[in-house]
Amino acid sequence: MFDALAEKLQETLSDVRGRGTLTEDDVNKAMREIRLALLEADVNFKVVKQFTQTVKERCLGAGVLGQLNPGQQVVKIVNEELTALMGGSSAGITFSPRPPTVVLMAGLQGSGKTTATAKLARHLKEAHGSSVAVAACDVYRPAAVEQLVKVGTQAGAAVYEQGTDKDPVDIARWALDRAKTEGKDVLIVDTSGRLHIDERLMQELKDIRKAVKPHAILLVVDAMTGQDAVNVSEQFAEAVDFDGVVMSKLDGDARGGAALSVKAVTGKPILFASVGEKLDQFEPFHPDRMAQRILG
Ligand code: GDP
Repeated sequence: MFDALAEKLQETLSDVRGRGTLTEDDVNKAMREIRLALLEADVNFKVVKQFTQTVKERCLGAGVLGQLNPGQQVVKIVNEELTALMGGSSAGITFSPRPPTVVLMAGLQGSGKTTATAKLARHLKEAHGSSVAVAACDVYRPAAVEQLVKVGTQAGAAVYEQGTDKDPVDIARWALDRAKTEGKDVLIVDTSGRLHIDERLMQELKDIRKAVKPHAILLVVDAMTGQDAVNVSEQFAEAVDFDGVVMSKLDGDARGGAALSVKAVTGKPILFASVGEKLDQFEPFHPDRMAQRILG
């Protein structure tokens, strides 16, 4: 994950660390290298510009020039800014004081939404001991309902489904009533994705949101699609105000551009990372740990 970026940043910072004192030219050179490394990792160019500018200002402002061993301070600043770039502290899901907590999953077809629905169910069950139900409202993608029955059951969740002939908004409403009756702590609603964002997809999401009044809306995006994932997130953010991102397929993302850009571009933090096809390959996203991992 993000190997090339990690290697380049570590190389640049180790160079900086190795110097006794730093001149402004040294800082500028390091910023140029960091900028290149981030651009090669497919990070949004505006984000890169802002990032290097902030790091540079902080380095010069902290009076690192002329100090003894200033490199350590530069590394610390880069680490802090990388953490802030990815959202600062990790947030997760806030449970409603009146269960069930309703979570709506949104995203394009193929983004990993159905998989993430089951993974989140498993995570909430394992980490919080919650009783979870998942609702199958993706009635358009062939086999999405059967897939959710399979992975949802494996995850230890109750799967609420009514096949593919009913209206997804009605299914969502019915599922919420059932979750209340059965005393579930959490209801996760899998919604339909399309190949592209279109008016119908957005309207359906808004209708389901109105019907079940979710406590959290999570947008699942495929990290492997890089800046496309960021653009999709931006468009979703304009249409339905989601709360956070599930970054899926991070295991297959060699570059890291989406993970490093999405918070700065959309204002929405990454809450969870999906890092493989298996149900347990899913974890809360910790920006500080990710920054640490990138900087070695
Ligand atoms: P949906 O159409 O958005 O519901 O997408 P699916 O949940 O069906 O996922 C699409 C494909 O991506 C499936 O083959 C999943 O096994 C795969 N997938 C989902 N999440 C991950 C992940 O984190 N890593 C990898 N490598 N594959 C994933």
